[in-house]
Amino acid sequence: MERFAYQREASVEGAVSAARETAAAQFVAGATNLVDYMALGLLRPRTLVDINTLPERYARIDSNDARLRFGALVRMGEAEDHPVVRTRYPVIQQALALAASRQIRNMATLGGNVLQRTRCEYFRGSGFACNKRVPGSGCEALDGVNRAHAVLGTSENCIATYAGDLAQALIALDATVETAGAAAGARRIPFAQLHHLPGATPHIETALARGELITYIDVPAGPWTSRSRYVKVRDRDSYQFALASAAVALHVEGGVVRAARIALGGVATVPWRAHEAEAVLTGQRLDEALASRAAEAAFAGAQPRRHNAFKVPLGKRTLVRALLETQAMSVAHET
Ligand SMILES: Cc1cc2nc3c(=O)[nH]c(=O)nc-3n(C[C@H](O)[C@H](O)[C@H](O)COP(=O)(O)OP(=O)(O)OC[C@H]3O[C@@H](n4cnc5c(N)ncnc54)[C@H](O)[C@@H]3O)c2cc1C
Ligand code: SF4
Repeated sequence: MERFAYQREASVEGAVSAARETAAAQFVAGATNLVDYMALGLLRPRTLVDINTLPERYARIDSNDARLRFGALVRMGEAEDHPVVRTRYPVIQQALALAASRQIRNMATLGGNVLQRTRCEYFRGSGFACNKRVPGSGCEALDGVNRAHAVLGTSENCIATYAGDLAQALIALDATVETAGAAAGARRIPFAQLHHLPGATPHIETALARGELITYIDVPAGPWTSRSRYVKVRDRDSYQFALASAAVALHVEGGVVRAARIALGGVATVPWRAHEAEAVLTGQRLDEALASRAAEAAFAGAQPRRHNAFKVPLGKRTLVRALLETQAMSVAHET
């Protein structure tokens, strides 16, 4: 690991200006992702700006009938244990509980989680062509060992999978991130616009400007939030990233789906909202045949490569299971 400067900031303004003014600065929260990638020599920040000393409100969970609000410094484990998250937003609770290990979740923050980097082994290793690490160098994964790679949202320049779980729940529920430090000051970014598709610029991963800090994550309450579920399929049943996952939230009235919110993980380059699948379900009675049609729609645009074609049928089966399990939930507070 290379030498770096370290500073703690007690205010958002201080943290933002430190990160803007110092070349190659990075915020550090739980450090579980950042330090891993620094140890690999992949990230070489000159300065780490520690945000753990920001005011307590950025580590708080607030809720009312209209929304759930997370400070960006809330630890994954705290959010997972929160009674409102467990009962009113189970898809968020399950996405958190199925991620990493409890030890990591006790350190890792929600802000850091949604900004975690890809696990593409060519990106993490040195000596491979990788457009994300060295723009214009090529992509070793296209014709390499691409079993873990994406089938949705890919480009000819990058097929790396977005690795996290929480983001699927957040994009499905139309969350918004609040930030500080953009040129125009504080702003709100719909979660669906936070992550960039790789396209021709896989090294530009998010909509955040240099030195822009996520301060809050807001999740609006809806009649679908209580009836929601996260299903994650992986090689090993703990401490493992998804091969395929589905975040589903349904508003069902009299057996008819009034509204569906669906996102897919493990199969796409960014947190992936499956609007086509939602359209298949809306206004219909959900049964296995309809769920299968929705899954077909969700993967209609899939572009598998040599080793990851199995993700298409696996992703469809994961979504069908998530839909049927969500429908079968017994829900105390369907609002
Ligand atoms: C072995 C292992 C298994 C894992 N398995 C899973 C899994 O199954 N599912 C899953 O979702 N995750 C998994 N993870 C990833 C883990 O959840 C992330 O490392 C963690 O959530 C990152 O949070 P952090 O607070 O530690 O972020 P940090 O490491 O502190 O930061 C990560 C990045 O976000 C930036 N950042 C942090 N906070 C902010 C902010 N508020 N505003 C702007 N930028 C910010 C940092 O500058 C850095 O670039 C795993 C990690 C490991 C090591
Ligand atoms: S898939 Fe993306 S991250 Fe992986 S080697 Fe190719 S360009 Fe790099």
